[in-house]
Amino acid sequence: MTGRVLLLGGTGEARRLAQRLVDDGVPVVSSLAGRVADPLLPPGEVRVGGFGGAAGLAAWLSGHPVAAVVDATHPFAAGMTANAAEAASVTGVPLLRLQRPGWTPQPGDDWRWVDSLAEAADAVAGFAHAFVTTGRQGLAAFAGVTAHCVVRSVDPPDPPVPARTTVVLARGPFTVEEERALLTEHGIDVVVTKDSGGHMTEAKLTAARELSIPVVLVRRPPVPVGVPVVATVDEARDWVAARV
Ligand code: NAP
Repeated sequence: MTGRVLLLGGTGEARRLAQRLVDDGVPVVSSLAGRVADPLLPPGEVRVGGFGGAAGLAAWLSGHPVAAVVDATHPFAAGMTANAAEAASVTGVPLLRLQRPGWTPQPGDDWRWVDSLAEAADAVAGFAHAFVTTGRQGLAAFAGVTAHCVVRSVDPPDPPVPARTTVVLARGPFTVEEERALLTEHGIDVVVTKDSGGHMTEAKLTAARELSIPVVLVRRPPVPVGVPVVATVDEARDWVAARV
């Protein structure tokens, strides 16, 4: 296969798709936001840093012709996803959204859905020890929470953070045993997460179910209208193969 592909990344799916495209002989340039100090790098060419909004991405696409763009950013990277949709529309470059399915509750789960991090912070009221796994960037939403918050992130969070915070620096995947031990050690009585989906971080949901701990889940932002969506790396690879 020939033709260059821009792969908007920062996820395990993006790294796996980059590997598939490299194996197929498709030139791929992966784009990372540059938020993580020591990112896991995909195979192939990598660029780091924002494009400068939708207009910046459109300009980049004009200066670096590609056969297609795959937006494999995280389900909650709504800004980048919106910019990709707008830039693709302006430039006419085909765009695909690769997004893993969200989680579905199992028997025994006590899940409480909310629409935003602010609502998640409200939902924590009345609990004593919250395990907050929504990422360090959204932590400001929890700044007013009175519960003791165990916060897990890859890099240390910047202030503002909840008044009583314990930071656990770690990068997934995590086992159910590890998650159960963490929940037990800190006396956690509520877990807070985004509906990220996937296997890398779902063990906390299993551990919460086993320990009968409620989980507050933040719903995903919608995908921009008109952008085709696939759920798997295989489907994305086939979509690319049809265009390069
Ligand atoms: P976001 O809010 O949607 O994006 C904010 C800005 O960051 C974008 O407008 C863009 O800047 C830049 N950006 C984001 N992703 C980029 C990429 N792959 N390549 C180049 N620039 C990018 O994004 P976010 O939620 O902060 O996520 C940032 C990165 O972390 C993404 O790559 C995402 O896949 C990854 N990630 C996010 C989460 C999460 O929960 N949000 C979790 C795990 C990993 P310009 O406007 O200047 O182009």
